[in-house]
Amino acid sequence: AKVNGRRQSCFYDQTMSRDLVRRREIEAELRSAIVKNELSIFFQPIIDLDTGRIKTFEALVRWFHPEKGELKPDEFIPVAEETGVIVTLGNWITAQAAKAAAQWPEDVTIAVNLSPLQIKAPGAALGIMNALREAGLDPSRLELEVTESLFLDDHGATEHFIEELSAIGVRFALDDFGTGYSSLGYIQKYPFSKIKVDRSFVSGPNVGKKTDAIIHAVAELGSKLEMDIVAEGLETIDQVRTVRDAGCTLGQGYYFSRAVPDYLAAMLLSQEEDT
Ligand code: C2E
Ligand code: CA
Ligand code: CA
Ligand code: CA
Repeated sequence: AKVNGRRQSCFYDQTMSRDLVRRREIEAELRSAIVKNELSIFFQPIIDLDTGRIKTFEALVRWFHPEKGELKPDEFIPVAEETGVIVTLGNWITAQAAKAAAQWPEDVTIAVNLSPLQIKAPGAALGIMNALREAGLDPSRLELEVTESLFLDDHGATEHFIEELSAIGVRFALDDFGTGYSSLGYIQKYPFSKIKVDRSFVSGPNVGKKTDAIIHAVAELGSKLEMDIVAEGLETIDQVRTVRDAGCTLGQGYYFSRAVPDYLAAMLLSQEEDT
C-alpha cells in the first residue's frame, strides 16, 4: 500500500509539473512568437439575420506553435495577461485586424476582443488610435468587444478609455453577456452599440424556456435602445430561427462559418458581391 501511495503521489506531482512546465514554456515563448510569425489572426463572420449578409468579422487570435501545434487563445491569453505580454500582443492583434479590414468593403466592420488588463495599461487608447491610423481605417469601422469583468474594481481608467475612443467614432460591444456579473447599469452607463448574448444561452444543456425568455427580453431591450443583439454559437438552422424569431439582429457561429484566415474572409466577401 505504501509503494502504491508513493507511486500515486509521484504521478500526481508529474502531472502538476507538466502543466506548470507547459505554462512556463508558453510564457517564455509567447514574447518571441510574434516576431517569429507564429501568431495569426483568424476572422469569423457575424451575419445580419435579416439579409444573410456579413456585417462584421470578429478577429480571433491563433498560435501555430512549431512543436505544440495549434494553440487556442484560452490557453495563452490568460498567460499573456499574467505576464503583461497582453499589451504588446493586444496592440499587435488590433494592428493586424485593422490592416485586414482596410481591404474590405466600407460597410463591413471589424470586431477586436480586448482584455481588461490591456485597457487599464497606460497608453491603451493611443495604441488603438495608432493601429487605426497606420491601417488607414476609419474609427467607425472598429468595434471593441469587452466583457463585464472589465467593470470590476474600476479606477476610472476604463471610463476614460471608452470615452476617448467613442469620441472618435470607435464602437463598443458587450461580450459574453449573461455569463458574468451582468448588470443593466453597464448598459445604461456606457455607449454600447451591441450586446453579444453568450453561447450558453443558445446551445447546450441549459437551453430551454428560461434561456428563451432571456434572449427575448435582451432582444427587446436592444430594439428599444437601438442596439444590435448578437446571438453567439449558432450551430444549427433551428438555433438560427429561434434567435431570429426572438428578435436578435445578428448571428455568429459554426452554422455560418468558423473563423477563417484573411484570404478566405476576403473570398467570402467577394462571393457576396456577386449576388
Ligand atoms: P469569444 O470572444 O467569446 O469568442 C468566441 C469563441 O467562440 C471563439 O473561440 C470562437 O471560435 C468560438 N465559436 C464561434 N462560433 C462557435 C460555435 O458555433 N460553436 C462553438 N462551440 N464555438 C464557437 P476562440 O477563438 O477559441 O476564442 C476563445 C476566447 O478567447 C474568445 O471568446 C475571447 O474571449 C478570447 N480571445 C480570442 N481572440 C482574442 C484576442 O485577439 N484578444 C483577446 N484579448 N482575447 C481573445
Ligand atoms: Ca468576442
Ligand atoms: Ca463571446
Ligand atoms: Ca469569451
